[in-house]
Amino acid sequence: MKPHASDLVAAAVVTLLPWQQYICHACGYIYDEAVGDADGGLAAGTRYADIPDDWACPLCGVTKSDFELYAAPSPAALRARTTVGGSNRRASSQRHRPGVVIVGGGRAGWQMAENLRAADADLPLTLVSACAGDRYDKPQLSVGLARGIAADQWIKERAVDAARRLNLTLLPHTQAIRICRDTRQLRTTRGNLSYAHLVLAHGAQAALPAALPAALCWRINHLDAYLKLRSALGDTPRQVLIVGAGLIGSELANDLALGGHSVTLLDLQSEPLARWQAEQAGQQLLQAWAQLPLRFVGGVKVAALAAVNGRYQVSTECGQHFEADQVIAAAGLQTPGRLAQSAGLAWQHGIAVDPLTLCSSAPGIYALGDCITVNGQASRFIEPIARQARSITAAILGGNAVPYEQRAALVRVKTSSMPLTLH
Ligand code: FE
Repeated sequence: MKPHASDLVAAAVVTLLPWQQYICHACGYIYDEAVGDADGGLAAGTRYADIPDDWACPLCGVTKSDFELYAAPSPAALRARTTVGGSNRRASSQRHRPGVVIVGGGRAGWQMAENLRAADADLPLTLVSACAGDRYDKPQLSVGLARGIAADQWIKERAVDAARRLNLTLLPHTQAIRICRDTRQLRTTRGNLSYAHLVLAHGAQAALPAALPAALCWRINHLDAYLKLRSALGDTPRQVLIVGAGLIGSELANDLALGGHSVTLLDLQSEPLARWQAEQAGQQLLQAWAQLPLRFVGGVKVAALAAVNGRYQVSTECGQHFEADQVIAAAGLQTPGRLAQSAGLAWQHGIAVDPLTLCSSAPGIYALGDCITVNGQASRFIEPIARQARSITAAILGGNAVPYEQRAALVRVKTSSMPLTLH
């Protein structure tokens, strides 16, 4: 049958239409039609219109309906953004007003700074970061090898550039030590900071099982540690042992195996991703992993880890022994409690916050991201962070309240050999 003339026109339009980009509202990930999303099953050249409705954002897990057409800002718009802060006179008169101090230079801390600055050009903002505070996409750490992301490609924006753009005072490589509620001061390794409002966004740390000495194993919850691990692994195939087959352990195991390393993955449970057993996540992964140099050993508890001749020996309580070049602890996350305790903040496996305003038990102290719990539940995903920052911004600056709403997370497991979306 001869093609109809209008079909030919349609085909021509499809091929000629430039590739478009779409941005995720929740996390800022940009879907590029030209590139696609290989892990999510979208080949290069997949139009946004052709993406299935159940596809999930590779960074934060929201679905297609949370994306909108993206146009890169023009140079003029970028210039306008860098001149926030009002006139010099106004800025200098504001300088001694205690403003908002944010603790944490990860996604939650920076998101908070973005929102506050967008809502108030003059508000004095200080961001205290234990690390350099450079901005990068943490979820990508678990797909870095398979995607061939080189050491110098991780950082999306240097902390100093973000600080300049947002007109904030950045204290990098600075530890927040203690909160004095009475005087509204934060004590840091670089002196005391006065605040009108304090926002805790310092995240969580990888938990360390009792049998694993910190000095002998890696904990990958930060770019710095990840890059050190990559450099320790080098370019030759190594034997890597990972303790913990939750989301992070399973994704890392998958990525290291795709990168040619020989991986042993241990877990207390009998299958990986046991939390999502009802969705048969573990069984699907095990099938996919049959093709990779990746061995899962379930139902074991690590009893000891020792360094012997530059390598590591791991033994389990049931008497199994393993050797590896590198050992990674991926046994979940826990919130460091010292700072919150110094202010006597209510604590429930994390900083307990009001479910609507995200205010802690102390007036003027808010918290968001991985360090909080709402009704005793942590939700350590990317998607809620932008909504949490909006609620806190409204609570701090007044005006109309933007109540936070806790939602069930949609989790995309970034195991390129078997992409899974879990609820
Ligand atoms: Fe997203």
